[in-house]
Amino acid sequence: MKAIVIGAGLAGSEAALQLAKQGIYVDLYEMRPDKQTGAHKTGNFAEFVCSNSLGSYDITNASGLLKHEMEFLGSELMPLIMESQVPAGGALAIDRVLFSKKVTDKILSNPLIKVIRQEVNSINTDIPTIISSGPLTSESLSKSIKEFLGENYLYFFDAIAPIIEKNSINFDKAFYLNRYNKGNKDYINCPMNKEEYENFYNILINSPKIELKSFEKNAKFFEGCLPIEVIASRGVDSLRFGPLKPVGLIDERTGITNYAVVQLRQDDKQANLYNLVGFQTNLKWGSQKELIQSIPGLENANIVRYGVMHRNTFINSPKTLNSALQSRKNPNIFFAGQITGTEGYTESIASGLLAGINMARYINNKPLLKLPNETMLGALMSYIAYEGHTSFQPINSNWGIMPPVNADKKILKNKKLKNELLADRAIETLKNFLNTI
Ligand SMILES: Cc1cc2nc3c(=O)[nH]c(=O)nc-3n(C[C@H](O)[C@H](O)[C@H](O)COP(=O)(O)OP(=O)(O)OC[C@H]3O[C@@H](n4cnc5c(N)ncnc54)[C@H](O)[C@@H]3O)c2cc1C
Repeated sequence: MKAIVIGAGLAGSEAALQLAKQGIYVDLYEMRPDKQTGAHKTGNFAEFVCSNSLGSYDITNASGLLKHEMEFLGSELMPLIMESQVPAGGALAIDRVLFSKKVTDKILSNPLIKVIRQEVNSINTDIPTIISSGPLTSESLSKSIKEFLGENYLYFFDAIAPIIEKNSINFDKAFYLNRYNKGNKDYINCPMNKEEYENFYNILINSPKIELKSFEKNAKFFEGCLPIEVIASRGVDSLRFGPLKPVGLIDERTGITNYAVVQLRQDDKQANLYNLVGFQTNLKWGSQKELIQSIPGLENANIVRYGVMHRNTFINSPKTLNSALQSRKNPNIFFAGQITGTEGYTESIASGLLAGINMARYINNKPLLKLPNETMLGALMSYIAYEGHTSFQPINSNWGIMPPVNADKKILKNKKLKNELLADRAIETLKNFLNTI
């Protein structure tokens, strides 16, 4: 019994390990390092390409609940994430190099997984295959997938935030603090007064951007990862109400809330590197340097990675997949990861987990798992497989996709209590569901 997995990214790595756990032999194809995607930097598996944060681990947060469900379902990557954590306030952030190495070692040492360092150019629909080639799927494979699905691809764009060296930050101006004083003082904050903000804003809106290629011109941006120049184009205050919002960041030295604040989050275990939170950008590199160095505290910032913007590919899942991530056209073919329209690191790993479990069940002639909508993963899968979408766009885990919970109106008005109820129901439902299979 053998399956093919295309792409050893977040979803493909989890899927391959799930298959192997069920005794299935896996041919895992990965084109890096010979052929890079434009965003990945190494040949290692499960590389985080932008932020090093997976969002919240709190079960009363939608993304946090998803992580707890993944642990329940036996995710192979979640324990490695926990072992690679770096401090990040309420967020679950990791040392990306350490994590990727752990995943690579785990896969390479698994006797059931054969790693083939090669670009896949076309799909062989006769062999059970999970396609987890990600938002930056190579061109030849994209073409083959398009031919297989007979559906048009959709495109949109994500952008990567710059990373700087901590020892180049001026701490006479910058200060450590987490928003609303939550947890430790993990974040570095660069405060701006009105004049400094306006100077920053003017540099930003007048900076040249990198020309998009002709096929990228009709860019559809994912709202959660908009480039700062796109946010800025919506009005002078849009950044102050977005990634540069100063609320909950009272500067202890002055006792004031500043006009705007740029936050930096730890990016590596040693805390040498920090990324600029929400600072995804497609500005030319010279302009990025000028812009970053106009921020108080970052006058001498040493930029170790500049922001870039990339094509991001996903399939029309509502027309092509069922909620078990299996192709409606050919039961041998499953999709997993961002290419299915589940947006985000956590979501990509989660769909790899489900695709791996379901492919093993398919090979073993067992019914596929279609998780209940009361679970976050089940709700996500139902969302992407829902045929009624008029315009399908990728989606993160969120409470809005789950069926409402029955409770007293007073409780439902309290967001925290409502989320607690939804999370309790999700875990209970998942437990019961797993007992029935
Ligand atoms: C630029 C960018 C920034 C992003 N930033 C964030 C972020 O900050 N936070 C967040 O939550 N999400 C982010 N995302 C979204 C998403 O979470 C990540 O892209 C995530 O890595 C997707 O996981 P995946 O497994 O689907 O794809 P990937 O992790 O990209 O894995 C796909 C793998 O397939 C390989 N591959 C591609 N084509 C072939 C082929 N033909 N043959 C063999 N191998 C192939 C690739 O080399 C890659 O290793 C970002 C996406 C992009 C593109």
